[in-house]
Amino acid sequence: MQLQQNISLKPFNTFGIDESAEYFVELEHAAMLEEIANDAALPKQVHALGGGSNILLSKAVSGLVVHNKLKGIVIEKEDSEHVWLRVEAGEIWHELVMYAISNGWAGIENLALIPGTVGAAPIQNIGAYGVEAKETIESVTGWHWEERAFIDYTNADCNFGYRDSIFKGRLKDKIFISSVIFKLNKKPTFHTAYGPIQHELERMNIAELSIKAIADAVIAIRSSKLPDPKKIGNAGSFFKNPAISTEHFEMLQTNYPGIPCYPFSETMVKVPAGWLIEQCGWKGYRKGDTGVHEKQALVIVNYGKASGEEIWALSGEIVESVKERFGISLEREVQVW
Ligand code: FAD
Ligand code: NAP
Repeated sequence: MQLQQNISLKPFNTFGIDESAEYFVELEHAAMLEEIANDAALPKQVHALGGGSNILLSKAVSGLVVHNKLKGIVIEKEDSEHVWLRVEAGEIWHELVMYAISNGWAGIENLALIPGTVGAAPIQNIGAYGVEAKETIESVTGWHWEERAFIDYTNADCNFGYRDSIFKGRLKDKIFISSVIFKLNKKPTFHTAYGPIQHELERMNIAELSIKAIADAVIAIRSSKLPDPKKIGNAGSFFKNPAISTEHFEMLQTNYPGIPCYPFSETMVKVPAGWLIEQCGWKGYRKGDTGVHEKQALVIVNYGKASGEEIWALSGEIVESVKERFGISLEREVQVW
């Protein structure tokens, strides 16, 4: 095991924040997790790191950062309708999507171009364009730091919710996800109703609808709208879209007749956080090297040398202004370290 000390995490987070890790190790094999747990010289505080595309480094990270490099995809089983893939957690999510599409296996094509690793997908039940990872996750295997054992979690055990799971709740920081089993479909059901997908497919002049065409449409939309972290530091949507009661929504509608909403549950609706933030005048705002993206107000950006503390402070100002104007408390989606 090659242990490094006091290294900069700047290349390991898409915000490009320059904070250091006290200890850092690349995880090449799942068996190393047990070695780490048994090594009395290593700190007990361990942080799982994938692609660093959903974290904000607010300070130097004490303890051990374990960078996930676990690779491999195997077919566990298949029948005429489905294939079950066991995917090691360090595989790149978008590469898995492309691999599935090239084999004609459907279910995750709407989730093309989401940055990060497979192991992080269950953490917030990644979602986009009307599809969530939970729809294809059969089970999750993870190393439990306290139990000192690998444990399998069924889909039901994972307690998946909107950008949420048991791994963000009761099991937060207790599990290192080492592999995920996905159940993909050999006979696709196409999800094209969401937002601009249909329009993009028409623009692309697609002769026959396919999972590849859907992924291409999603990639085109995302590339035109979202800042590329290689060019401008960001972690995607900084906040979750809030769900509010229908009564609260109807009250807001009297002052803001154009307020958008989407169904959430029988008694609640989901309001796009980007719209709320834009109404408060933040879209395109810049202070020093921190800012709010000019095309998508839900994305906070680092134009160069912003610190995690500065980004945290800006996010706090946004939360306050939305609370004051709409009475809605925004919740940060990004995991703050
Ligand atoms: P990291 O940022 O490395 O980690 C995120 C959290 O998960 C951390 O708390 C970490 O400790 C924990 N974690 C990571 N790996 C493991 C593991 N193996 N075991 C245990 N804990 C672990 N998200 C969406 O849901 N939908 C989108 O459409 C979307 N679009 C994005 C677009 C852009 C441009 C960016 C920058 C981000 C976007 N995101 C989106 C957010 C992000 O890509 C996802 O949350 C992704 O799953 C994070 O993966 P990661 O490997 O980078 O995780
Ligand atoms: P958008 O299309 O501008 O829509 C704004 C918001 O409205 C979205 O967040 C979405 O909620 C909601 N919405 C739009 N159409 C909807 C529908 N038909 N049904 C239910 N909800 C609907 O959003 P965008 O910023 O360009 O993002 C497009 C998709 O990519 C979204 O699904 C978004 O979640 C995902 N995305 C996520 C991140 C991230 O970091 N989490 C970053 C970029 C994009 P939902 O978010 O619930 O879908």
